[in-house]
Amino acid sequence: MKYVSTRGGMAAQGFSDILLEGLAPDGGLAMPERIPQVSAAQLESWRSLPYHALAAEVLSQFISDIDSAQLKTLTQAAYAPKTFQSAEIVPLRPLYDGLSLLGLSEGPTLAFKDMAMQFLGQVFPHVLRVRGATLNILGATSGDTGSAAEYAMRGKDAVAVFMLSPFGRMSAFQRAQMYSLQDANIHNLAVKGVFDEAQDVVKALASDLAFKNKYHLGAVNSINWARIAAQIVYYFHGWLRVTTGPGQPVSFAVPSGNFGNILSGHIARSMGLPIRRLVLATNENNVLDEFFHTGIYRPRSAAQTFLTSSPSMDISRASNFERFVFDLVGRDAERVAKLWQELGVKGSFDLSAYLPEFTERYGFVSGSSSHQDRLSTIRQVMDRTGILIDPHTADGVKVAAPFVEKGVPMLVLETALPAKFSEVIQEALGRPAPVPLGLENLESLPQKVTVLPCDVASVRAYIAEHASL
Ligand SMILES: *Cc1c(COP(=O)(O)O)cnc(C)c1O
Repeated sequence: MKYVSTRGGMAAQGFSDILLEGLAPDGGLAMPERIPQVSAAQLESWRSLPYHALAAEVLSQFISDIDSAQLKTLTQAAYAPKTFQSAEIVPLRPLYDGLSLLGLSEGPTLAFKDMAMQFLGQVFPHVLRVRGATLNILGATSGDTGSAAEYAMRGKDAVAVFMLSPFGRMSAFQRAQMYSLQDANIHNLAVKGVFDEAQDVVKALASDLAFKNKYHLGAVNSINWARIAAQIVYYFHGWLRVTTGPGQPVSFAVPSGNFGNILSGHIARSMGLPIRRLVLATNENNVLDEFFHTGIYRPRSAAQTFLTSSPSMDISRASNFERFVFDLVGRDAERVAKLWQELGVKGSFDLSAYLPEFTERYGFVSGSSSHQDRLSTIRQVMDRTGILIDPHTADGVKVAAPFVEKGVPMLVLETALPAKFSEVIQEALGRPAPVPLGLENLESLPQKVTVLPCDVASVRAYIAEHASL
């Protein structure tokens, strides 16, 4: 399997080559040069596999430069019961009226980012070992991604993580989750600025090629193809759990921000998995909902992005969306390059000519939710089932409900556990979310964090002193 760029300017490369890179050299994103097809018989043969074995089967469709025995070892280590709160890794829980929850938040940081990051935590050290290389992962986080990366990479050979977080702007729980890691290869840098400023420091250092090469800087951001690939697995898993035989349709509802999670669903569907609808749920930051209703993509600036009670979806420029557009325009890379050029000049582009295809051909439908919707959905699910859901998952349940069809199970992806967003639970129910087993003392553990000014020189000096070479 080889990978090409959505903008056409990259020679075809293998999985391990694109694994450690960010954007393609032409500014595009890596995509498999063809989508592997899974037959109904093959799918049935996977029905009894445990999650890690299913992951090896699905991922081997996209990875031809790691042999299958090795890949099995990697997924077995990534999706081990000791790392996840549920023995099934991804549990399925029925709610009501055809709706079920697909539990993607049983990993160490209580959000779905762990599903992909745990695989990266195995495959990065493997590829680095084979190549005799080292990697210093540099990133900025306002919550879920940074902590998932740190938990996946802690104590791993040949990898170090330098994660910037905005000083004083994360919840006590989020801080404790990240800063309590004592591993020598994990560097928490609390910088005195807001998230966007921290992100600017990361971008400045990553675009300084001499520095980047000298210190082997890399990233694990949402455009990383291996993350998309690892996320495809749970669509197969969900389908296999809820069906009894070939061809049965299942719909999925996905709380969305960067379009990474639902893109994995789109790829799973393109591989032949019988997915009927992909329900894209946004919060008040509804750029993607607008696109699926009008065909016009008009991202917003950081200043026009609302702070909401489902903060991990407060994104107005969906970095993975380009991969879907690539498929939508018939994999015409020249066309994609032109669209993104137009976006740069005009701030929007118009694909309304494809509007009928969004649902008919690709299965996409969409909707958005408000703060009040999330509160009432959390209350409703609690009243009817006794199950407590987080505000992101509530976006999914709210938007999914009108799209439920008779005889078609609707799986809502549970993208975080409520304990991470206890203030919203307090507002919805008048009591905080329970702290998961084993994390009761998290906030009283000793913390390891370095406070730095939010500027390029300070972070550069810290990396130069601490990078693994
Ligand atoms: C990252 C995240 C999302 C959005 O996922 P995308 O892949 O960016 O669309 C939704 N919910 C939670 C809790 C997240 O952490």
